[in-house]
Amino acid sequence: TVAMAFGTLGACSSTRSDSGGDSTSAAPSDTLVGIAMPTKSLERWNNDGSHLQDLLKKEGYKTTLQYADNKVDQQITQIQNMVNDGAKVLVIASIDGTALGPVLQTAAKDGVKVIAYDRLINDTQNVDYYATFDNELVGKLQGEYIESALKLKDGKGPYNIEMFAGSPDDNNAKFFFKGAYDVLKPYIDSKKLVSPSGKIPASADKWTQIGIQGWDSSKAQAEMENRLNSFYKSKKVDVVLSPNDSLALGIEQALQGAGYKAGDDWPVITGQDADLANVKNMLAGKQSMTVWKDTRTLGDQVAKMVDQIVKGETVDVNDTDSYNNGVKNVPSYLLKPQVVTKDTVESTLVKSGFYSASDLGL
Ligand code: BGC
Repeated sequence: TVAMAFGTLGACSSTRSDSGGDSTSAAPSDTLVGIAMPTKSLERWNNDGSHLQDLLKKEGYKTTLQYADNKVDQQITQIQNMVNDGAKVLVIASIDGTALGPVLQTAAKDGVKVIAYDRLINDTQNVDYYATFDNELVGKLQGEYIESALKLKDGKGPYNIEMFAGSPDDNNAKFFFKGAYDVLKPYIDSKKLVSPSGKIPASADKWTQIGIQGWDSSKAQAEMENRLNSFYKSKKVDVVLSPNDSLALGIEQALQGAGYKAGDDWPVITGQDADLANVKNMLAGKQSMTVWKDTRTLGDQVAKMVDQIVKGETVDVNDTDSYNNGVKNVPSYLLKPQVVTKDTVESTLVKSGFYSASDLGL
């Protein structure tokens, strides 16, 4: 990945500043920033962590970067250690957004500032800022892709759809699902989209019924294999709503195992993250789209927020009412996600340096 220069953002024109500037002011070289990431098993978090760490180091900050193997207790211990080590700012991509209240309470007592990274942290006063991509828009883009690929607006159908949702403990997952569901619901109601497995929640807020714990590829694969074996003996699946690339990968494996062929009866399938394996699958006709969230721009924004916090400046946010964590509206900076398809891989992912042509075998 390409390192982007600090402060080259200019991503959002309508930037507001929140008025919560505080008195903290310290030199970067005296300041430890703790970065807590969920897992190394997903490509994006590796990129997120190393990019943010590089940016902060370049600005002279001391950093500690920890991955928690998707284990909630491990993440809590890591955060506690960061506080013990004197971290002044914590950047946390939580595993379970509801489990960090107690550890953040101890952090707050030490005056530590907290930025929720990508995923909101819930049920606590002690989260100061949130930086993410617009999560509902991610789902909306997936839903709209399906709507247009299947020409649902033109009255085409019925199609067999299978739906999946993300990890029940991830605060983002409900936003992804709602964004997609709201677009697809009229077609479910008019029976242009039908699900042989019956696994379509009756309303968007019932999404956990089809959630895949831990965003685990192999769990998604097993679930898809089950559905194919039980409900598709004499039918074909036409479309799969997958909220992200790790699930899509498992689902694609199941389709492959069941004998579906790219360019022939392979269904429309969505994703998110532009993970390398999925981009390769897109090029091979085994995934229709991915919603790309350029993690470098998120890192850039968060590095800037850290710097503003440490220097006691006002912190840039562009949304103050979309993300309530159960205790308060968390001042947020939302970035825009972008659809990538086979045809736009070069003009987006390659041109921006997110991948090189040779990474992708181009
Ligand atoms: C992130 C996605 C990611 C998923 C699984 C979500 O919170 O927003 O980008 O695919 O977690 O790690």
